[in-house]
Amino acid sequence: MFKIQVQDKKSSARAGIQKTAHGIIKTPFFMPVATKGGVKHISSIELKQMGVHALISNGLILSLTPGLEVIKKHGTIHDFMNFHGSIFTDSGGFQIIRETLFISISDKGIIFKDLFNGGKKILLTPEECVRRQNILGSDVAMCLDDMQHFGNTKEVYKTALERTHAWALRCQKAHKNRKQLLFGITQGGTCLDLRKESCEFFAEHPFDGYAIGGLGLGEGITNVNKVAEISNEYLPKDKMRYMMGIGNPSEIINAVSRGMDCFDSIFPTRNGRHGTIYTGKGRIHLKNSSFRMDTKPLDSNCDCFTCKNYTRAYLKHLLKQNEMLGLRLLSLHNVHFLTKLMEKIRKNIIAGEFPAFKKSMKRYYEGID
Ligand SMILES: [Zn+2]
Repeated sequence: MFKIQVQDKKSSARAGIQKTAHGIIKTPFFMPVATKGGVKHISSIELKQMGVHALISNGLILSLTPGLEVIKKHGTIHDFMNFHGSIFTDSGGFQIIRETLFISISDKGIIFKDLFNGGKKILLTPEECVRRQNILGSDVAMCLDDMQHFGNTKEVYKTALERTHAWALRCQKAHKNRKQLLFGITQGGTCLDLRKESCEFFAEHPFDGYAIGGLGLGEGITNVNKVAEISNEYLPKDKMRYMMGIGNPSEIINAVSRGMDCFDSIFPTRNGRHGTIYTGKGRIHLKNSSFRMDTKPLDSNCDCFTCKNYTRAYLKHLLKQNEMLGLRLLSLHNVHFLTKLMEKIRKNIIAGEFPAFKKSMKRYYEGID
């Protein structure tokens, strides 16, 4: 299902392909986030047009609203969203950090408040989590994990780790949709010995691919680098490695050089909505007064819809006036930029030029090592 096509000689970067029931994903790649079934401000048709082959939604949220029966009436989640590329579904483990949803956790499962249906309590067990994702028909289901906030004690991470491992085995047992891949999620916070333990556990208990969970929570680029290194060392080389919650160009480039293949994050759309824009020459902050009279596109080398049609000054104006159109155009550009960045990274790995590419980006993005 996963094949490495080119292994970079000077780093751990690799270019590969991941087969799913909806085609081939070329790795490394970035997935936009569609938690409730929609990427903020961007339609599934537009995603396809910009070359997005995979996205991630959320099995728990969609099963609560609109409900599995509504999606089943369409066929699968692909038919519901009218996106026929590969769809990953997250399990609901991430929602532990959502104070409005989370009630409690035990070895049995997670109790959530179903805010979409009058606030009643629901128990999400590993088995139930997999059952819901099986019905949604996503290409890749994620195991239920116990994901803790950044900055916890080692004891908290250790308990979460053990629970995550036990739940992964229960998920595997409950997994019935043979067209769907099931990925395990490693945990361990920023404790590298726990990260190693988690990787070793999953190396002994094979899954279709592996996610590195519990990141993108404010731990900083140095910690992300270290977790990527240890995951690269101890996770099986012949399966896809998916760093959850990572979506900033510096972190992605560093992680790719450490053998990571897949990323997702809400940052490109959220940053776009706040006027922080990625370009080939670094970030710009559109709220700065210097853009008031700027008639250039956001990025002169970008061929997205926004850059082809609008100036920085116009976009700044829309943003300042909180016009919906501005939020949409800026989100479009940022997701397009990251999609094209991943294509460039892949092309450079295949051409044997990845280390030089990484070096060239250092000038523009802080934190690339
Ligand atoms: Zn653009």
